[in-house]
Order: sequence, then C-alpha cells, then structure tokens
Amino acid sequence: MIRTSQKRKISSYGIYFVILFVILVIFGYYIISSKNSYEPKAPITDTQFALNTVVSVTIYDSTDTSILNGAFELCNKYEKIFSRTLESSELYKLNHSSQLTSEVSADLASLVKTGLEYSKSSKGAFDISIAPVSQLWDFTAEDPVVPVQTKIKAALSHVGYQNFTINGTTLSRESKEEQLDLGAIAKGYIADRIKEYLLNQGVKSAVISLGGNILCVGNKNGEPFNIGIQAPFKEHNKTLASIKVSDKSIVTSGIYERCFTKDGILYHHILNPKTGYPYENDLSSVTIISDKSVNGDALSTTCFVLGLEKGMSYIDSIDDTYAIFVNSEGKIYYSEGLEQEFSMKKNS
Ligand code: ADP
Ligand code: MG
Repeated sequence: MIRTSQKRKISSYGIYFVILFVILVIFGYYIISSKNSYEPKAPITDTQFALNTVVSVTIYDSTDTSILNGAFELCNKYEKIFSRTLESSELYKLNHSSQLTSEVSADLASLVKTGLEYSKSSKGAFDISIAPVSQLWDFTAEDPVVPVQTKIKAALSHVGYQNFTINGTTLSRESKEEQLDLGAIAKGYIADRIKEYLLNQGVKSAVISLGGNILCVGNKNGEPFNIGIQAPFKEHNKTLASIKVSDKSIVTSGIYERCFTKDGILYHHILNPKTGYPYENDLSSVTIISDKSVNGDALSTTCFVLGLEKGMSYIDSIDDTYAIFVNSEGKIYYSEGLEQEFSMKKNS
C-alpha cells in the first residue's frame, strides 16, 4: 500500500520529468534552428543598366526577389531627380527653368547641400556648378568631338558654386545660365539610400554596385567582403589589388572609362572648372574607402582634382576615411593607416 506522502513524492517526480523533457525539446529545437541559420543561403542578384552605368545588387541572406526589385525602383526614382540629361528629371527642369529661386525636393536639396560643401572645401577645384561646361562634352559619343574654345570660354563664365545658395529646400542662383551637375556625387547618395532600404527590409548582408561605386551591407557569412580595385586602362574586372571590408563604401573615380583620344590626346570626364578642359595631373584613379558612399563619391572626384599631394593630405585629415591613388604609370599610393586597418592583397 502506498501512503499519501509517497504518492505526492511520485507525482512531483513526474512534474520534474515533464519540465526536464520540455527543456530538452526547446534546447534541441534551438540547436537545430541556429545550425540552419548559419547555413549560407544561395545569394540572389540582379544586374540592370541604370543611372547611365551597370547597376547590380546581390543579397546574401534573403531569397525574397521583391527586395531586389525595390532596390532597382529606387535607382529609377533617383534618376528622375538627379539626372542632368533626362529631360523629365527634376534637375533638368530646374537647370532649364527661367526662375532664379525654386522649391526643390528634399533629396535634391540634401545632395546640392553636400555638393556645395565639397565645392567650397576644395576651393572650387570640385564644383557642382560645372554643368554649362560639362554639357558641351560627350565622352561616350560614337564620334566624340572636342568642343570649340569659344563655347568653353563662354560656358566658363557661368561656372561658380558661390552663385548658388540652398536654404532648407529653397535653391537660388544668380542667373538662369548657371546650372548644376551632380554626376560626381549622385551615385554615392543613391547607394546610401539603397543600403538604408535594404536594412529596413531586414537584409544584413549585401553588395550594391553602381558602376565604380560599391557599398557593402554587413559582411558575407561572418567574413569581410573581398573587393577588387579596377586596374586603370585594363580590361574590365582586371584588378590591381583587393581589399577586405565589412559595411564600407569603396568608390573609384578614374579617367579610363568615360574618355576618348583625339590627335593623340586623352580627354576624360573630370573637368577643370578653371579651364573647361580635363584635369591633367598624372593620376589614373582615386579610390576612397569610407562609411557613407556619398562622401566616398564626392571625395574620390575631389581628391582626383586636388592631385596626389593635396588629395592625400586632405584624406589624412578626415577620420575613418582612406584612399588609394594610382598614377599614370600604375604606381599605387595608400593613405595613412590604410594598410594597418584593412587586409590588402596587391596583384603582381
Ligand atoms: P563617375 O561618374 O565615373 O563615377 P565621378 O564620380 O568622378 O565619376 O564624377 C565625374 C562626373 O562629375 C562627370 O561626369 C561630371 O558629371 C562631373 N564633373 C566633372 N568635372 C567635375 C568637377 N570638377 N567638379 C564636380 N563635378 C565634376
Ligand atoms: Mg565621384
């Protein structure tokens, strides 16, 4: 015969057994599911021609292709704001309007503000009001021509970032001939917006590539991304070095893609706002590693126009921003601390 106290002891053993069983089941489920989440998924990727360049987005931790579509919709949205050549864009309409003061979208106001800041800090060597001159050149035309000097001279008289002011979303200029060209910074800004969008969609591992602008979201299966630096004047995807980065922007400005040769002279798309002709400074490319791509894009063009010496000391004065300069002979120069901060591999 079992006494009541013994009965109570047995049933409390039973409860302990059930609790232990439940804990084991939960623990087992946790181990199995965490193991699965570390298993790398096949990435999803899409490549399209947009923003006058090849755009590709690769996502490593989601299989939802609608997120990719959303990223490309953003490219289209921003092209309709920032394009200098698309007649329906906000910037085109602004450039060709007779008004001197206009209300602009928040995105346009923000990018113009950034562009004017870089124009000022480079003392006009980088100048987003270069449009009257840049529209005379077409570097990718089938039969490109060097614009006549009289036209360049006339256009130069309308260049000068000091003629523009932005106050909130109110943009003013001094005469209607003054126009803006955001080509040197728009891709960086757009890459930042795409990254923001991907993060909001729960993506933690991706690479956004807008031509020479690469922006990494997080890392790849716990390891940094290995990003190649294009070798100037070599076939596409031939790299001169590679660098391991997580969550960084890598932007290159070079003279080897949008350019043409006439009578033995190379004409490229980074223009000197003092002369109206391409800069001549013995550089082939400048790559900037930074957190925000808009800064990398602005700085890669700015450092190019400043040249090796001034550009390098400018970069050394900015925290958490690094540069790789390549001269016309292919010699590579790294900014202070770059080789200590990142793992680099130089191709022979
Ligand atoms: P990419 O467009 O190939 O990425 P960049 O970011 O260096 O190259 O920008 C070059 C573009 O910037 C030119 O195509 C033109 O639209 C514009 N630009 C040219 N010269 C200047 C300059 N001195 N300052 C500001 N923008 C410039
Ligand atoms: Mg740029």
